[in-house]
Amino acid sequence: MTDSTERLEDTGYRLTAPRRAVLDAIASINRPFTIEELSEGLPNIGRATVFRTVKLLQELDIVCRVPLEDGSVRYERSRSGRHHHHLICSVCGSVTEFSDPSLDAAIEQNATSASFELESHSAELYGRCDSCRTTS
Ligand SMILES: [Zn+2]
Ligand SMILES: [Zn+2]
Ligand SMILES: [Zn+2]
Repeated sequence: MTDSTERLEDTGYRLTAPRRAVLDAIASINRPFTIEELSEGLPNIGRATVFRTVKLLQELDIVCRVPLEDGSVRYERSRSGRHHHHLICSVCGSVTEFSDPSLDAAIEQNATSASFELESHSAELYGRCDSCRTTS
């Protein structure tokens, strides 16, 4: 994740050893993961540091937070590296990213008309992916 480390430094964050270790661990996982799973692979780094680093990477759109229907949360490397939404398959668990500027504009407009100061938003669509949809 060379571009991720560059981005971290570009935005003024120091790439400390623990941050680099967390980035490397995330780079080696090719599926959605929990903070617990990530922490298990990083025995020398405290859970709180792992959590804070993931949160920081999330703010930079390097990692994204994927809330599942059962209330649990997974994280995964962002493929696009920018703001996006998720299509989550409830059968195989696959997560697909999609971006839609008009959806973002509509969300911002709704916040504005409710005099709501919007800080961030996320959108998850739950259902069946193309390959799970046809079988069953
Ligand atoms: Zn994502
Ligand atoms: Zn599926
Ligand atoms: Zn959005």
